Amino acid sequence: MRDIHHFIDGKAVAGTSGRFSDVYDPNTGQVQARVALASPAEVDDAVRRAVKAQAGWAAMNPQRRARVMFAFKALLEAHMDELAQLLSSEHGKVIADSRGDVQRGLEVVEFACGIPHLMKGDYTEGAGPGIDVFSMRQPLGVVAGITPFNFPAMIPLWMSAIAIACGNAFILKPSEKDPSVPVRLAELMIEAGLPEGVLQVVQGDKVAVDALLTHPDIRAVSFVGSSDIAQYVYATGAAYGKRVQAMGGAKNHGVILPDADMDQVVKDIVGAAFGSAGERCMALPVAVPVGEATADEFVARMKDAIAGLKVGISTDAEAHYGPVISAAHKAKIESYIQMGVDEGAELVIDGRGLTLQGHEGGYFLGPSLFDHVTPGMKTYQDEIFGPVLQVVRAQSLEEAAALPSQHAYGNGVAIFTRNGLAARDFAAKVNVGMVGINVPIPVPVAYHSFGGWKRSAFGDLNQYGEDGVRFYTKVKTVTQRWPEGDIGDQAFVIPTMR
Ligand code: NAD
Repeated sequence: MRDIHHFIDGKAVAGTSGRFSDVYDPNTGQVQARVALASPAEVDDAVRRAVKAQAGWAAMNPQRRARVMFAFKALLEAHMDELAQLLSSEHGKVIADSRGDVQRGLEVVEFACGIPHLMKGDYTEGAGPGIDVFSMRQPLGVVAGITPFNFPAMIPLWMSAIAIACGNAFILKPSEKDPSVPVRLAELMIEAGLPEGVLQVVQGDKVAVDALLTHPDIRAVSFVGSSDIAQYVYATGAAYGKRVQAMGGAKNHGVILPDADMDQVVKDIVGAAFGSAGERCMALPVAVPVGEATADEFVARMKDAIAGLKVGISTDAEAHYGPVISAAHKAKIESYIQMGVDEGAELVIDGRGLTLQGHEGGYFLGPSLFDHVTPGMKTYQDEIFGPVLQVVRAQSLEEAAALPSQHAYGNGVAIFTRNGLAARDFAAKVNVGMVGINVPIPVPVAYHSFGGWKRSAFGDLNQYGEDGVRFYTKVKTVTQRWPEGDIGDQAFVIPTMR
């Protein structure tokens, strides 16, 4: 059995806890490796070593830190195919989608190449007599990132590239379901010139997460995963005095107005609902057509579009999507499909029961389509995180817009229309963090930042972009005075700058 190790001080380090988790090939259902699960003592060791490495890294000027990011970006490009293959082999998403996973992370590395500019402070000359005020951004120290299974390259890069470019050391605790790509990324960062110990990968589960959340030398925790755990991480990290950003689950809606370009809508939504088997936090699992005629046309055309989808193994270049992550997750999705039927929604297409010849043990699910879903249904309220599209019919734009606004999750939302005024109004008023106008998956580019609202994110700074720099730095403000003569007898009065 192949073992997947921790990555400490620039090299693979075997786990000593005696605890492991199986890593599956979702295409076959076979165990392909086992990953070490860190004990609190192993976490502590990684953090102590990172503390030592961080001081020297932070003292390096920002141009030199940026050069490591430039070299790392080039290595990611050179290793794109290898990374995508490795990613697909553990996650199950198709190779083209895995390349996108790496590419979206790479774009944050590109952003981090601008760190000398991004970390510049402000300066006010002459704020008072002989007085200047300036601010500087300083790294926090050692920070941690805890990441989900569904983007094993992109999300570790969202966090680590910016944290490290800012001068922090970073402890990455990736998902135990697909832990190999994060280690490979760390190896490449060392190859790019990062000093050993600045990026440590600690494999593990809740035990490692709790050790990070309570460790006195961890200054900040960035988390992406499901909402209940995000809330737990946020509350626990804050109780231990840490800065925390914790992104959670989602249930993103796509509102379709009668004037939308239906050819485009169907193409967009079939990709956004079923791509990556629906295992994206920015997937679009709820379509909200406005008016019965729009709904009838959408459902009829979606049926045809779904009929053209190919589910296959992740290396099948013709497959639109591959297996889901685990047997347990497949069973959970199937139980939600049954629940939808029991709740009274109309199951137009049932994706259960799909087996691929030669891959009978793989975790495959065909696409499912529900019509006449209503807001009171649990299958509407919960995140299913699988290849299931639910249609909720609305009679007006107001009724449609209220659905995402009132939903417990608030990650992304899209509106499809040719009416600029309606779209503009919708974007301004909807109670959701990221909005697409004729864009089904509105993940902001690397120089904006990513974050939902409500149960989709806990904490007040988003991932990457300038918010990422804010999250991983603290501001120090210096007021300096170099008086030219006698400043008078003002020492007992609160200083003002009249
Ligand atoms: P998850 O919450 O199960 O796991 C996320 C991380 O938390 C993993 O590293 C895992 O080891 C750790 N973890 C699991 N159980 C824990 C516990 N009890 N205590 C402490 N740590 C624990 O999520 P997942 O299944 O890996 O990922 C899918 C979820 O992530 C979905 O809900 C999806 O919407 C969400 N997600 C959100 C975003 C976003 O930016 N909002 C992005 C991607 C994924």
